[in-house]
Amino acid sequence: MKTFLKVDDLRKEYGYGDSVQRVLKDVGFSLGQSKFCVLLGPSGSGKSTLLNIIGGIDAANRGTIQINDSILETMDDKHLTEYRRKHVGYVFQMYNLIPNLTVTENIETGAFIADDPLDVNELIKTLGLWDHRDKFPNQLSGGQQQRVSIGRAIVKNPSLLLCDEPTGALDYHTSKEILALNETINARYGNTILMVTHNEAICHMADHIIQLHDGMIRDDTINHGKVSAEKLEW
Ligand code: ADP
Ligand code: MG
Repeated sequence: MKTFLKVDDLRKEYGYGDSVQRVLKDVGFSLGQSKFCVLLGPSGSGKSTLLNIIGGIDAANRGTIQINDSILETMDDKHLTEYRRKHVGYVFQMYNLIPNLTVTENIETGAFIADDPLDVNELIKTLGLWDHRDKFPNQLSGGQQQRVSIGRAIVKNPSLLLCDEPTGALDYHTSKEILALNETINARYGNTILMVTHNEAICHMADHIIQLHDGMIRDDTINHGKVSAEKLEW
């Protein structure tokens, strides 16, 4: 298996002096290329902090992140910007769509910053949004809005897709649809996916499960018996 992402000895602290809070405590793990990975942990365990550092939107106090042959910490601003724009797709719990742009236009905003974007119309069909392509975000359900936000992230065809609790605001059935969509995207485009959740059931659909607890890796497991998103129950 080809290693895609390697995190070593990552430490992150907030605050200074007596009030310093250590949020990531020497975290290390590796992810394989094109794998679907779940980062599991309770609220406050440091999941979003870790994702933000991997995504190049926050910096660690110590440690390294290697992606293919590049070390994130040694990139200058120009390379870091390029990394964020071209190589990383980001999906958040709250969809963060632009309200006065249609579905198609929201997805196109992702395509504009890419060198070699996916075909927007084909992607909209994959997302199951073809009949909604001319609608504005406020004419869509939460699940449909999250599909658009996944589309905007994936249209760049990023090598890494980071998802921070993408189903956190969705009901059971809609959550499963969004998870199934991630599964489809992972199979079709081969992006490495790192998905943060505090829902243990979601682990079962992953190739790789990393558990974070109080800023430390509690468990790091390759899942040889993964099941489809459709079969998950919670
Ligand atoms: P999770 O995503 O697992 O819920 P977070 O990574 O958001 O956890 O937060 C981990 C800890 O770091 C929390 O105690 C949180 O209060 C603290 N924290 C996160 N971001 C900041 C920040 N910008 N400044 C200070 N403390 C922070
Ligand atoms: Mg979080």
